[in-house]
Amino acid sequence: MDKFEEKLQVFARKGLSEEEVEKKILDEMGDECICPDCPMFNQCAKEKYEGLYCILGKSECTLEEDECICPDCEVVEDLDLKYDLYCIKGSEKELRE
Ligand code: SF4
Ligand code: SF4
Repeated sequence: MDKFEEKLQVFARKGLSEEEVEKKILDEMGDECICPDCPMFNQCAKEKYEGLYCILGKSECTLEEDECICPDCEVVEDLDLKYDLYCIKGSEKELRE
C-alpha cells in the first residue's frame, strides 16, 4: 500500500465522508499545489480559485493541454501520486479506479 492509499484508509477509519476527506487534504496540502504556476492554468481557473486537481478532480474550465508541472509538486511525493494532467483527466482516485 502506498502513501495515497494509506491516507485514504486513515480518513476512512475516522469515518470521514468523501467531501470531508477532500476538505482535510485541501487544508493540509492546498498551499503546496503549484498549479497556478503551470502554463495550463488560465484566467478561468484563476477566477474559480481552482487547484489541487489531483484530489478535487477535473477543472470546470477549458484548459489547453501543455506540459503538466505536477511532477515538480511536493504533493506528488507526499502522497506517492502516479499520474499527471489531473485538471483534464480527473483525480488520482478516479484514475486509479
Ligand atoms: S500534484 Fe498537481 S494537481 Fe496536485 S497539488 Fe500538485 S500541482 Fe496541484
Ligand atoms: S494538474 Fe498539472 S497540468 Fe493541470 S494545472 Fe496542475 S500542474 Fe498544470
